[in-house]
Amino acid sequence: MSETGTVERPTATDVVVVGAGVAGLSAAVAARDAGAQVEVAEAWPQIGGLSLLSSGYLRAADDLDRAVAYLRRLSAGTLPDDGVRTLAGYLVAAPALLEALAAEVGATAFARFGAELAPFESGDLHDWTGRDALGWTGIDALPGFDRYPHASGQRGHTLVRALELAARARGVRVQTSTRVVDLLIEHAAHGRPRVGGVVLDGPDGRAAVRARRGVVLATGGFEFDATALADHVPAPGIAAIGHRGNRGDGLRLAARAGAALWHLANVHGSYGFLLPGRDVPIRNHLGGARRDDRPVGWILVDRRGRRFTNEAPRAPQDTPWKALAAIDDASGEAWASPCWLLFDDDGRRLGPLGRPAWSRPQDRYEWSADNSAEIRSGAIVVAATLDELAQRIGLDPPALRATVAAWNDQVDAGADPLGRPPGTMAPLRRAPFHALRTVPILSNTHGGPRHDAAQRVLDGDGRPIAGLWAAGELGSWFGHRYLLGGNLTEALAGGAAAGRGAAARVQAVAA
Ligand SMILES: Cc1cc2nc3c(=O)[nH]c(=O)nc-3n(C[C@H](O)[C@H](O)[C@H](O)COP(=O)(O)OP(=O)(O)OC[C@H]3O[C@@H](n4cnc5c(N)ncnc54)[C@H](O)[C@@H]3O)c2cc1C
Repeated sequence: MSETGTVERPTATDVVVVGAGVAGLSAAVAARDAGAQVEVAEAWPQIGGLSLLSSGYLRAADDLDRAVAYLRRLSAGTLPDDGVRTLAGYLVAAPALLEALAAEVGATAFARFGAELAPFESGDLHDWTGRDALGWTGIDALPGFDRYPHASGQRGHTLVRALELAARARGVRVQTSTRVVDLLIEHAAHGRPRVGGVVLDGPDGRAAVRARRGVVLATGGFEFDATALADHVPAPGIAAIGHRGNRGDGLRLAARAGAALWHLANVHGSYGFLLPGRDVPIRNHLGGARRDDRPVGWILVDRRGRRFTNEAPRAPQDTPWKALAAIDDASGEAWASPCWLLFDDDGRRLGPLGRPAWSRPQDRYEWSADNSAEIRSGAIVVAATLDELAQRIGLDPPALRATVAAWNDQVDAGADPLGRPPGTMAPLRRAPFHALRTVPILSNTHGGPRHDAAQRVLDGDGRPIAGLWAAGELGSWFGHRYLLGGNLTEALAGGAAAGRGAAARVQAVAA
């Protein structure tokens, strides 16, 4: 790999990896370690994908059987049993994988379980068997490296950089600004397809590259494919905050080879804001696992002025979009898309409402610490009374007044019928009052090709498609609910499994 990302392109290699996020880079390193010549094609001008924007925390487990128990309940029948065991195995393997990577590049890795965890670090977990086996791992710091300049994030940058250094040390070729637009599909005996390479579209135009051993699809999500979103995610108006290079290519490439697709409807998301004049949405500030002792200074109300959801659920960036997208049976309306985020002056002072993420320098935005810049820009509507606020945002004043009065009573009683923990509840009493238009936000997707425990892509009859693997968010194991931090774990460990499998394939054939 050169600094500029340009290399002399061979017409054949052993393994082609499509996408240079954590899954793709991990696959490339593992394939190289298994003796394969590897080429990585990355559509974006820089490596890292959504992995850069991530918080960089990986879920880990210190006991396989207990992790299996937890994941079985979490997946609620959307995964075969060997899938549950494989994913649990990834959780167990993650700390050692990261420790080895960190040692190689001179970084520091951490892994924390049990009593080492602060209470809030498990705030997203349900009280199910196996909960106590779950902890966290990650890479803390990489001497001499701060962050890549073009995208938001910090710890995700460190993880990607560590993988980039490992790939570079192995002579893995990574071509940026090079999009895979097609697969080379050969038909073997009985007409069954075999993937024999890719068609690249890069700075020098289109070219075919044969993959003697296999192709690993690691193209991430489909959050910037409007058609796929409309087809699979029942949330009109949902706005994606992720990596703009993730355009659903992996869905189309895998489908070309006859892959079955799964987990398309399982997306993560929250609620957030589209500020005037900007087309990049901003998620609300709550991230990671909920802190039960951290006051959240707002409530959400729908366009009828009614509160409709727990604004601070266990995993605030993963499930809330569903409540905003819900359709009211009587009217057929999705009353909460868009909806309004309401807060008083005390709430304003609790901190910034938005937590921007961006994958291009021109999308960068810094939310003001006391929300004053967003008030000055007019994004946040301010009024001296609740009635005036209601009129300014088109809500029924008595309805809004009643909602806020009921909420303040619930705060005083420390009991929310919608399930918000008392420590997160804050009253709305101190004028001026504020409202911010709020939409459902998409963080990332999970759909993609169905695959087996070895990450081999499967066709509609459940048979592996020769020469094709998938890893990471594309065809994620998560089909129902999500385990916070599980995406990077499956990208790292599943990417390595896919890379090893692809590299090993020809050896098996040759043997
Ligand atoms: C704000 C935020 C915070 C998050 N924090 C965490 C966290 O702390 N822990 C966690 O586990 N998960 C987290 N996630 C989710 C996590 O970031 C992703 O699930 C994970 O990074 C996906 O990795 P990946 O390698 O599969 O895909 P990506 O990192 O998105 O990489 C895919 C790459 O493929 C490239 N590509 C796409 N199409 C093509 C093509 N046709 N040809 C060539 N290249 C192509 C893309 O440009 C991209 O670079 C977070 C998500 C968000 C939005």
